[in-house]
Amino acid sequence: MDYSKHFSRNLTLIIFIFLVIAVFGSYFLWQFSEYILEDDLVLKVLCWLLLSTILLGLISSVLTKIAFKPLSKLMDVIVFTGHNSREGAPPNLDKLFLGREMITSLARQVYDLSNMSSQALESNKNSENLQDSGSYIIEHIGLPIIGIDNSQKVVLANKAASEYLNQSTDDILEKPIYDVVKLSFSSEDTFENWLAASQQNTAVNSRTWEHVKLTDQKNNQTRQLNLIANFSKDPKNGIETILTIYDRTEEYSRNDGQMDIITLAVHELRTPLTIMRGYIEVFEEEIGPTLNPEMTGFMRKMKASSEQLTSFVSNILSVAKIEENQLILKLQENNWSNVVKKSIEDLELRARVHNKHIELNISDDLPNVAVDQISIHEVLNNLVDNAIKYSGNSSRIVLTSFLNSEGMIETSVQDFGIGIPQAVMPDLFQKFFRSHTSKGKVGGTGLGLFLSKSIITAHGGSIWVRSKEGEGSIFSFTVQPFDNIKHEQEKGQDGIMRGAHGWIKNHNLNRQ
Ligand code: ADP
Repeated sequence: MDYSKHFSRNLTLIIFIFLVIAVFGSYFLWQFSEYILEDDLVLKVLCWLLLSTILLGLISSVLTKIAFKPLSKLMDVIVFTGHNSREGAPPNLDKLFLGREMITSLARQVYDLSNMSSQALESNKNSENLQDSGSYIIEHIGLPIIGIDNSQKVVLANKAASEYLNQSTDDILEKPIYDVVKLSFSSEDTFENWLAASQQNTAVNSRTWEHVKLTDQKNNQTRQLNLIANFSKDPKNGIETILTIYDRTEEYSRNDGQMDIITLAVHELRTPLTIMRGYIEVFEEEIGPTLNPEMTGFMRKMKASSEQLTSFVSNILSVAKIEENQLILKLQENNWSNVVKKSIEDLELRARVHNKHIELNISDDLPNVAVDQISIHEVLNNLVDNAIKYSGNSSRIVLTSFLNSEGMIETSVQDFGIGIPQAVMPDLFQKFFRSHTSKGKVGGTGLGLFLSKSIITAHGGSIWVRSKEGEGSIFSFTVQPFDNIKHEQEKGQDGIMRGAHGWIKNHNLNRQ
């Protein structure tokens, strides 16, 4: 319905009625004047003029009231919505004689608009409140939180952060993050590298690092922590990256303490073990051919056990070296098939003693690899030893090597044994981790996979596992072709030196 047309039609009608009333009214007034003043024309006219004026005045006053009533009601509505608290009743539009529908519709729109704007105001107020409480929480939460902008300057540091870093907020704010917080990461996969990659490639990103070391201005280690970083490109508040620190000094120091005692004890095992292995070899050579099959079996078991003990000792000492950042790898050009076969030679005896058989599937077309032979031997040793330990009644172990689609040499060790529960898969490569299903039944330290991962990462490769409980596991890792990194070899050197996956100082992070 077109309310304004309806309104103007009604108004025209009313004006017409009033005009008719005015005309007839004037006529009756003239008749009335003639009746009371029959002879005096002048007086008659004057009387008629006076009465007509009064009548027209009354008519125009009523007409004006009727015509302007809708406008004044609309004003009342607007004034009513303007009241802060909207006290009292809203203007009553029911009694409106002219344009009731039009004004009711307009009033409804005015009310709607006013409600919308008050809701917007309310939500603004709420978001301001939220922002206020967000800042309050950040300031008072017990976790150190640091915000940095896109030029890597600190723009936010809460109370806990300034206490944790032992620096006043003024000393922290507006300084480059790397001057304020000196961190050493457990690999070259550092915060700085992650941030550079995030700034280039992503809009949002987040990452957690465990076992990060915090050093003071004099490079003395003060705390150990887990670090969480959340990155968001071009944020409105200018805080591009938020760092949250979870202190783990107590827990990690306890582990380090355990390692110190173990290392000391294991170090002492090395000399007698070397002597024992030497004598076993002498016995094998001198009296081996004269022994009966039963005695030959005993001799093999003795040799396999001494080799297992040697691997155990070397595992522990390597992990200890990693912790101290003293395990240095020398990556040299090697034929991968030769490296694998040399490692497997030792392992085959151990496999045979446990009634297992290792199948080798190595592609012929592999390029030469860049590896540190001793460390890679430790990796293969750990993976095959696990395959032996955790393969239950199955006797098959398959070792496969091939050139994968990314141009890396991929090797996997597959067994058909107990498998690994899905829930523990993410923890497997952590130091001291042992799945509860194998804890009681099979001996171990929980260091083999941690060490393997550290060594493979230092080689520039990666290591992962696929497994199904009850069906077996496949541990795979990659190493790179020598050609990929040969440019890193310095003149006069016969290899490329790499720090192992351990407390490698991140030189960039320590720059001033
Ligand atoms: P360890 O074998 O000395 O316990 P590792 O670091 O080599 O330590 O392995 C960690 C854990 O991973 C083991 O305790 C075991 O629970 C699980 N695991 C490793 N390899 C296998 C495998 N091939 N099959 C089943 N479980 C495995």
